[in-house]
Amino acid sequence: MPEVAVSRRLAQLPTYLFAKIDELKKDVLASGADIIDLGTGDPDTPTAPRVIEQLYTSAKIEENHRYPSYSGLRILRETVARWFEGRFSVKLNPENEILPLLGSKEGIGHIPLAFVNEGDVALVPDPGYPVYQAGTILAGGKPSFLPLYKDNEFLPQLNSVSEDIARRAKIMFINYPNNPTTATASKEFFKEVVRFAKKYEIVVCHDAAYSEVTFGDYQAPSFLEVGGAMDVGVEFHSLSKTYNMTGWRVAWACGNPQIISALLKVKTNLDSGMFQPIQYAAIEALNNSDEEVSRVAKIYMERRDALIDGLTKIGWKVPRPKATLYVWLPLPSSFTSSFELTEYLLREAHIVTTPGVGFGACGEGFIRIALTVPRERIEEAVGRISHLKLTYH
Ligand SMILES: *Cc1c(COP(=O)(O)O)cnc(C)c1O
Repeated sequence: MPEVAVSRRLAQLPTYLFAKIDELKKDVLASGADIIDLGTGDPDTPTAPRVIEQLYTSAKIEENHRYPSYSGLRILRETVARWFEGRFSVKLNPENEILPLLGSKEGIGHIPLAFVNEGDVALVPDPGYPVYQAGTILAGGKPSFLPLYKDNEFLPQLNSVSEDIARRAKIMFINYPNNPTTATASKEFFKEVVRFAKKYEIVVCHDAAYSEVTFGDYQAPSFLEVGGAMDVGVEFHSLSKTYNMTGWRVAWACGNPQIISALLKVKTNLDSGMFQPIQYAAIEALNNSDEEVSRVAKIYMERRDALIDGLTKIGWKVPRPKATLYVWLPLPSSFTSSFELTEYLLREAHIVTTPGVGFGACGEGFIRIALTVPRERIEEAVGRISHLKLTYH
């Protein structure tokens, strides 16, 4: 077969980060090594049995076998509205301010199609979830990166965005609690985002995938809690991390009704809604779930402490995150490349991690460790690392 010519947009996409790591991992696995995978942010604990039961029950009902509605079951949107008001004291209209998604990745990947014209700019955090950039490129837009520096607590400095870029920007992505840096944002920061977005007429997309994976007394605010946010933005929520449901593909976008309606128009032309039994299962997950959600967060908190206490004991300096499934680890002094450290940990200790640079140039200097294995495995990983005699200054 002759070489197939792919579109410029497709060719422009960077290789999906996890594919590179997977290749590396394959080599080591082939040698029969006992790998500890701290690479991907995929919860290792199962979905609650009551949610699975609801899927069974709903799957047996014939009317659930047909095409679902594009905008999702009304009762799902009402359940989301109730959950949202209980959690953030923000009232959402289930009619036009909430849109179920086939995972938040789907909505995030598609939303640039609604607002970005050929050559328009999307402001994308660096380091960041790769989908912000990919969705922008596939829509014909140009990602312009918002660097997240440790010195600014991994928040973008909006006043250093040039006037020209700010004017050309149609959309911006923010994500707190943040993947990969684990940073959190205050309502003050969100207010600044609202002012910036109003000034330059930019659609704000806040990715809140980790809003419920928080530790101790810390509770993450919603972007929509801030005055004016509903005028400029939407927020993406997902059941993936909160309810151990990554495989189910269920999430929602909520916020400004015009933005929601534009995203719905894109989706109406690309997908045909969410299998109704999954929607009923999502309702089950969201109802009366506070205790379950805190139990899940507590598991990650214990793993976080096992990792950080262990590394601290051997002289590493690692900040203790308030949220997310990750630890964002500065490189030991003998390393300058995050990719090299990742490779080294894989070859010498059979531990999979993710190089910070894979999330963007500004992620260099860090690796991301996912807390998605049992505590004993994390302790085992610390043990293996301690034998490597890496030093921190
Ligand atoms: C995991 C994750 C998501 C959630 O993806 P789903 O498609 O809902 O499973 C969204 N954003 C970030 C930053 C994530 O890490």
